[in-house]
Amino acid sequence: MASKRMSLTTQIMTAMGAGIVLGVIFNQIGSDFISTYITGGLLAMIGKMFVNALKMLVVPLVFFSLICGVTGIGDIRVLGRVGGKSFALYIMTTAIAIAIAILIAKIVGPGNGFTMDGVDTSGVTAKEAPSVWDVFAGIVPTNPVQAFASGEMLQIIFYTIILGVAVLMLGEKSKAFVAGCEYMNEVMMKIVSIVMAFAPIGVFCLITKTFAEQGIDLFLPVLTYVLTLTGALFLHLFVTLMIILKVFSGLNPITFMKKIRPAQIFAFSTASSNATIPVTLRCVTERMGAKNSVASFCIPFGATINMDGTAIMQGVATVFLANVYGIDLGLGGYLTVIAMAVLASIGTAGVPGVGLVMLTMVLGQVGLPIEGIALILGVDRLMDMIRTAVNITGDAVVTTIVAKTEGQLDMATYENPLAGTADD
Ligand code: ASP
Repeated sequence: MASKRMSLTTQIMTAMGAGIVLGVIFNQIGSDFISTYITGGLLAMIGKMFVNALKMLVVPLVFFSLICGVTGIGDIRVLGRVGGKSFALYIMTTAIAIAIAILIAKIVGPGNGFTMDGVDTSGVTAKEAPSVWDVFAGIVPTNPVQAFASGEMLQIIFYTIILGVAVLMLGEKSKAFVAGCEYMNEVMMKIVSIVMAFAPIGVFCLITKTFAEQGIDLFLPVLTYVLTLTGALFLHLFVTLMIILKVFSGLNPITFMKKIRPAQIFAFSTASSNATIPVTLRCVTERMGAKNSVASFCIPFGATINMDGTAIMQGVATVFLANVYGIDLGLGGYLTVIAMAVLASIGTAGVPGVGLVMLTMVLGQVGLPIEGIALILGVDRLMDMIRTAVNITGDAVVTTIVAKTEGQLDMATYENPLAGTADD
């Protein structure tokens, strides 16, 4: 079938390209009619429907696939090992990401010779950084129903794992429940396919709207920041993460990059790691061959605690603003930035714009003026799209490494270029 018409991935990429071109044209025309009725009206509505549909899938999909994952592993010790390994790798990749970002930004020096004169700082408010203790205490939900209703990912994961372990311990008695969850997991995956069929339209609307609203002129004043950040993000995406993949798993990075592309496109279009979970999960299981027992845990876990791209943004933005204000943070200051960004990425969810909130905490911690954020506010949506694609790639890299080292990766699927493209 795939040979007769464009594959779904090609359709989505074409839609993305068309969206960028049309969005830029709309932006240049600058008509009120277009911004009210087309980009801000019809396209915004369809785009939102699509993102809502993805989000609608996240909680039930994570629940059922995680129950199947835990019962599928069947051994609590292995579960602990998978958890420990993925946690260590997530923290390591985030710390490397931000360290590289600070280094690059220090070398390039964005923001030198810049002043804050005339920048509107009214829309910026500071957020208090949560303490390490609060972050970890918050993982245990007081009310699981509330955690599910409000999509608190870490709490949902915690509760579902406990439930899965209890189901495991009950052995024979749990057979019918496990079979029911396996069935529901399949149903959820089918709904993912249905939603994915609308992806080209959804992506087109989201991208057109974003590019129509983000004028190119916004970029000029902070071009050095945008270029340094984009460069650091690409370096992490194409070099660091791929080296980590190769070193820890021996897998072919080029194959990996080809197979993760649909998830990257979704992350770019939605700017939300959480909303992308269904697609990332599908890429690592169906296209790469990671077993659900590992992927069902590692992907939602990573979407919440692992944000390499966001950490990179914290690093570059801090150096940029330190240069703008002519403040030297010194080694201690930058080490604080690294620690804060890693911690903040654990405690915050993968939703659009969360990086800016984290930045207010980081700046507050090292004593840089929070108002500085006003400078980069205008370009943040596009930067958010790129860093979210990096975030989910990091999640997938760690998941594949854990799956490979646990003997939970089907190499035949990984090496088969057509794997997981049946719905295309
Ligand atoms: N949008 C990012 C994510 O969902 C978080 C951020 O950097 O704002 O992963």
